[in-house]
Amino acid sequence: MKRIAIVEDEPFMREELCSMLEKAGYAVQALTDWETVGNSLVALAPDLAILDLNLPGISGFELCRDLKQKTPMPVLVLTSRDQMKDELQAFSLGADEYLTKPCRKERLLARVSNLLKRYEGRTNLLEGPGYLLDRQTYTLYIHNSSVVLPKNQGKLLETLLSAGNALVSAEVLCNALWGTTEFVDENALQVNLTRLKKTMANLDMHQKIVVVRGVGYRLEAEVAECADG
Ligand code: CA
Repeated sequence: MKRIAIVEDEPFMREELCSMLEKAGYAVQALTDWETVGNSLVALAPDLAILDLNLPGISGFELCRDLKQKTPMPVLVLTSRDQMKDELQAFSLGADEYLTKPCRKERLLARVSNLLKRYEGRTNLLEGPGYLLDRQTYTLYIHNSSVVLPKNQGKLLETLLSAGNALVSAEVLCNALWGTTEFVDENALQVNLTRLKKTMANLDMHQKIVVVRGVGYRLEAEVAECADG
């Protein structure tokens, strides 16, 4: 059962949303503690969040931005603000859908279902210890935050992570970086690996890149020694 979180301060609207979505087969949770709603949502990690913009004491825009920075969860904005600039701002902050109130039940349910399907179909999230990597955008979600990795670092991490515990040869890494194995540039590969190692250390990731000389590279838990090849 898909879980949907609702952030809506008007009690009647909230009740209606809850009952409509429950009837449609979703597990619904409404959050009403406005001071902690951002953190609660992150901790709850629902499959979808429905967000009002005019909320008591907090800005729905900020909440939206915060959520999209910290988690890969889809956000549907449902608001009475019908100005184009509000809609554009919400999208620029990462909102996935924007609907204005009053909204027909059928329309809302269709968008919800569509959005959930879109996200379910995304096989682009790779999971590492304590982090997620979006292999399309190279966004790394870690420690309740996110960073977009430079493309080459993203490609290297993706390739290493996909291999699990297996060793990945220099050829495979070069192919991931430059799309060819005809010309393996070990120096350029080293430069990119060094940058990724630095990034991983700075982000306090619980993994390190380990080198097995002449064979390849792999990710290991942080307790392992990191040999410099
Ligand atoms: Ca409101």
